[in-house]
Amino acid sequence: MADWNAAMNLLCMILKHQRDASRVWDDGHNYRAPCRRCGFPLIKVTFGDWRAFDATRDYEADGAPRKSRPLSR
Ligand SMILES: [Zn+2]
Repeated sequence: MADWNAAMNLLCMILKHQRDASRVWDDGHNYRAPCRRCGFPLIKVTFGDWRAFDATRDYEADGAPRKSRPLSR
């Protein structure tokens, strides 16, 4: 019934998301990349340390107001 498996790979739940190094992009504030297994958006925290992107937190976590669409320039 639940389609959680489509949203998040089982390996990602047990282990961690794994960034797709070939698809890293810069949103203007942070480096981002999709998970190579399930495509879940990830955000770079520190060098070599990535975690799942959380829009509700990451758009205001560091106190800097962010554009929701950084593609305008
Ligand atoms: Zn994943």
